[in-house]
Amino acid sequence: MKEALNALQEYYGYKEFRKSQNSVIDSILCGKDTLAVMPTGGGKSICYQIPALLFDGVTIVISPLISLMKDQVDNIKDLGISAEYINSSLNFKEIQAIIEKLNNNEIKILYLAPERLESVEFCNLMKTLSISQVAVDEAHCVSQWGHDFRTSYRYISKFVKTLLKRPIVTAFTATATEEVRKDIIKLIELNNPGVFISGFDRENLKINILKIAGRLKYVLNYIEENRDQSGIIYASTRKEVDNIYENLIENNISASRYHAGLSDVERKQNQEDFVYDRINVMVATNAFGMGIDKSNVRFVIHYNMPKNIESYYQEIGRAGRDGEKSECILLFSPQDIMTQKYLIEVGTQQSERRINDYKKLQTMIDFVHHNGCLRKYILNYFGEDTDYEDCGNCSNCLTEGELVDKTVDAQKVLSCIYRMKRDFGVNTIVDVLRGSSQKKILQYRFNELSTYGLMKNYSKKDLSEFINTLISHGFINLKEGEYPTVILCDNSMKVLKGDEKVIFKEAIEVKKISEDNELFETLRSLRKEIAAEEGVPPYFIFPDSTLKEMSLRYPLNKEHIFDISGVGQVKYEKYGETFLNVINDYVEKNNIEAKWTERAETKTLHTTRAVTRNTSNKGKTYDITINMIKEGKSIKEIAKERELTVTTVLGHIDKYFREGNSEKFQINFDEFFREEQEQEIILAADKLGIDKLAPIKAEVSDGISYDAIRAVVLKNYILNKL
Ligand code: ADP
Ligand code: MG
Ligand code: ZN
Repeated sequence: MKEALNALQEYYGYKEFRKSQNSVIDSILCGKDTLAVMPTGGGKSICYQIPALLFDGVTIVISPLISLMKDQVDNIKDLGISAEYINSSLNFKEIQAIIEKLNNNEIKILYLAPERLESVEFCNLMKTLSISQVAVDEAHCVSQWGHDFRTSYRYISKFVKTLLKRPIVTAFTATATEEVRKDIIKLIELNNPGVFISGFDRENLKINILKIAGRLKYVLNYIEENRDQSGIIYASTRKEVDNIYENLIENNISASRYHAGLSDVERKQNQEDFVYDRINVMVATNAFGMGIDKSNVRFVIHYNMPKNIESYYQEIGRAGRDGEKSECILLFSPQDIMTQKYLIEVGTQQSERRINDYKKLQTMIDFVHHNGCLRKYILNYFGEDTDYEDCGNCSNCLTEGELVDKTVDAQKVLSCIYRMKRDFGVNTIVDVLRGSSQKKILQYRFNELSTYGLMKNYSKKDLSEFINTLISHGFINLKEGEYPTVILCDNSMKVLKGDEKVIFKEAIEVKKISEDNELFETLRSLRKEIAAEEGVPPYFIFPDSTLKEMSLRYPLNKEHIFDISGVGQVKYEKYGETFLNVINDYVEKNNIEAKWTERAETKTLHTTRAVTRNTSNKGKTYDITINMIKEGKSIKEIAKERELTVTTVLGHIDKYFREGNSEKFQINFDEFFREEQEQEIILAADKLGIDKLAPIKAEVSDGISYDAIRAVVLKNYILNKL
């Protein structure tokens, strides 16, 4: 696993594996077939890419999304990994060239469209290659129970059998149901696989359900407040998508749309605009999103309730892949239930399937009306136990918005419906309550009811919103039909009798998802410029999380920037200097004393450490340190005097010598360790090498600090070799 960690740091610049990745990669490296179920954004790609780098021979990745293959491959090429893809977008000559590279062992990872496997000719070409791993991404596509069945996935097992030497076969999916899992193992013919189902929680996603009328107004306000952020709005039908889209455009919001009614070309273009940050908001049906790896989606709004929890969770999973705070907002309205029922009716012939669809829809409806923690509900649905009652990050656990008692107004509405005796739509009830003298009202003699004109103080729009909110909360039922009408239900009677109160959260204030600092904005524009020049999506250059970390920690030199998650070797070579220059400029201009603190020692990074600088230090900063040492000052004294951390001062010394200076002078390291600690560190360093300190730290006793290790390494390995 040490090699794996090295590869992660070198290529991807990430400092550690996520918990769930560890066991999966371990299993694959042990040579076992492996099935990993991880949520969207959980980090599946790295699970097969890291073993691919460590194994001899090539890893073949089967991936269903031809339109995204180029992006996926460009992305890892950008990290310095030799990768290619073969799909129907390439011509014969191009494929020929790749096959030749394969034969020469020049490719580590080959992405392959599953349709290729249907060609016997093609399989014959692959037969003699040294293939270490066949990784099946989106493996649920093999199962008819999954939501994206692909016949060509059924050829995978045949393909594996034609190979002269059977490679390790691995499979990855975000679909958690038992049926699908069994299908994957059986149909891809995994051989006694290690199966890993990781936690489904995505802590950085805030889960909101809002039962409000006036959804469009809400959405417009929300986007206005979060202008520069990337987000997706899902709606159930094309018509609804078009409608929202047009409204956004009218309000000068940078938006695009995606649904099955658009041409292939237009869909492709719109998707690209979104991925490349040329537009901020994508309005789409559920046709959009599979395989979109864009990591900086900050919000997902469901304008309508989706058809089941699986789709819902997959769709909100597209927010915040980079691990940064993101928001998911479901805007529920009771009409959504009818839309979904209609879609089931027209969508499915098979009765068994239809029953299943209705069952899943009901679970979704229950979710919307659930009073407890929403996160817990979802996780339990996926079979995961939670050890909390209150996640603190969903609209039921958070106490935002003021609670107001609307019982009296609700009783007015309910008793009016009761007195009207027959079923009417919301508009007629509004008219009666506001005392309209329309013909229809007078015809039915509603003007004689005691509730006539009882709610004149409401505007027409506000009253109809209020009634719709009562419906959303289940205090009134909606009767389906060409013209939906309202009817009383058990809950209505409880309210009328005074047995149940109607409490709403008032004024759901629209807030910014997060407060970005100025340096972050600067780095983001820099990223966008570079991306446009190179013709790649901005998140390829660095994810938001990397920029955020830079904007909080102020890396000022090479050593610093390598300590930022997401900065690997190749990324550094390509962009390191450019970003460092901008950060240095910023720090200089704003008179910020950026105190560098090493990652391992600061688990709580997320506080800004900026103090106004009082002395300005020009010239090579390590020269100043070295001169002070020559003057006979101790390292701790220097740190204090220069207002730097000891770590930084040790870093200066290290850098001075590693850059080829060999002048000898006296340095006293004794203040950092006791003799027996020194021996312990030397023992570990001899065994593990001195390129990375983390493995040494892990090996030695807990009381030994990084500074001690750094000092021992300097004294015994660097100065001694001069
Ligand atoms: P999935 O395919 O499971 O939906 P991805 O493989 O696309 O997820 O990964 C989601 C995001 O998480 C990517 O931006 C990826 O670079 C990032 N990521 C994966 N593993 C790590 C890690 N160990 N540390 C930091 N970021 C990671
Ligand atoms: Mg993926
Ligand atoms: Zn909660």
